[in-house]
Amino acid sequence: MRISEILSDGRIHISCEVFPPKKFDGIAQATRVAQEIAGLQPSFMSVTYGASGSTPGHTLAVAKAVRDTGVTPLCHLTCVQSSRSHVQQVLREMQENGLENVLALRGDLPRDGCIQTDFTYASELISFIHSQGSFCVGAACYPEAHPESASRQADMDNLRRKVDAGVDFLTTQMFFDNGLLYNFLYRAQRAGIRVPVCAGIMPICDPKQVARAVKLSGSIMPPRFAAIADRFANAPAAMTQAGIAFATEQIVDLIANGVTNIHLYTMNKPWIARAIMENLSEILRVDT
Ligand code: FAD
Repeated sequence: MRISEILSDGRIHISCEVFPPKKFDGIAQATRVAQEIAGLQPSFMSVTYGASGSTPGHTLAVAKAVRDTGVTPLCHLTCVQSSRSHVQQVLREMQENGLENVLALRGDLPRDGCIQTDFTYASELISFIHSQGSFCVGAACYPEAHPESASRQADMDNLRRKVDAGVDFLTTQMFFDNGLLYNFLYRAQRAGIRVPVCAGIMPICDPKQVARAVKLSGSIMPPRFAAIADRFANAPAAMTQAGIAFATEQIVDLIANGVTNIHLYTMNKPWIARAIMENLSEILRVDT
């Protein structure tokens, strides 16, 4: 099913992200994780694409396993290190396997700055995907602006360009302060962006994740969360419980304020996704 159709029914949707293994011999384990998370019946499941486009086959293998559970898969696809013919080949394989949803991304720039690509920005990939067949195309957006953007306005102008290239839905970078998302949604509305936005929530259950998450997302860590990470740094079970509680509270606040699409960055930990889904069980039954 196309994700644009799933998101158009006005209900609350929780989707989940999984990542494929770096090495081929990890596919069986990643597939088991994906199947376990699919058992929680998320509205759809996204499968990330290895940095620098190194492992497209692994993304498709895990996406096919998701498809076989009956949950709709979403394949991430990056372009910054790719040629048109490579992207064409991945899209063809997706079509042959009934995978119609793509999250079109530029990908992070390589550390050595050496770019060999037919694409500079995700907007070019989005146009190219549409030229290759009938796909439902999503893209990334950044409540706190992409770290390379000169300003929040420049970031929003670029997002508008991306949406105009043919985006059916957006997924946000993780954020830890809902005020940032509400501000972003207001600015997106003013910029004329009308496609559904899935709010990206990352449950942080390991103190080591904190610094990494901040670095990756450029996210502001609220003092309230910093205190949790500090206090429970040496108590893993307590940190897991606190991280789940913090993410649950964020989601409850989002839903209470009318945000209906939530995307959980599961970090391939089914027990964390399950705990959050259980915490929300009654909330997800409430009509929007
Ligand atoms: P773009 O939309 O191309 O934007 C990149 C930068 O260029 C931004 O600063 C933007 O404002 C600017 N820009 C865009 N268009 C123009 C223009 N025409 N002129 C000037 N500036 C412009 N990475 C992976 O490797 N694999 C994944 O699976 C993956 N999944 C992700 C999922 C989500 C939901 C998110 C939020 C990120 C994900 N990433 C992934 C990381 C992503 O690849 C990086 O954040 C990357 O640096 C930017 O990708 P983008 O598609 O947003 O790029």
